[in-house]
Amino acid sequence: MLAEYDYHCPHCNQLLNADNTVIFKIEKSTGEKGFIDLNPKVGEYSYKCEPNMVFKNGEEMEFFCPACKVNLKSEKFPKFVELLLRVSSSVHFEMLFSRVFGDKRTYVITEDMTEKYGDNPEDLI
Ligand SMILES: [Zn+2]
Repeated sequence: MLAEYDYHCPHCNQLLNADNTVIFKIEKSTGEKGFIDLNPKVGEYSYKCEPNMVFKNGEEMEFFCPACKVNLKSEKFPKFVELLLRVSSSVHFEMLFSRVFGDKRTYVITEDMTEKYGDNPEDLI
């Protein structure tokens, strides 16, 4: 199992971790905007948001880098957010997590395998 790692924006390389959270700007389908703090442990799905927002299962959220404001939606897998997970200064992996509320799926893609986390990890992207 992976522990906590550093998450970076794949566009501007900004470190997204802060104080045991990973911070994003989000926008709901209703147009509400705010910030969300996610658990930095891979496979943990607790969160806090500011201002407090209510999400419905199945609702898609748009995630943005708080630094460069780019939408972090994966081009290959548009229902997922794509990040860089840095393991060491020379090693980083691609990480995908679902941006659909209630869909607890996370994938860490390394050179030769995909590690799967969450409730239905066999439902491959
Ligand atoms: Zn960025």
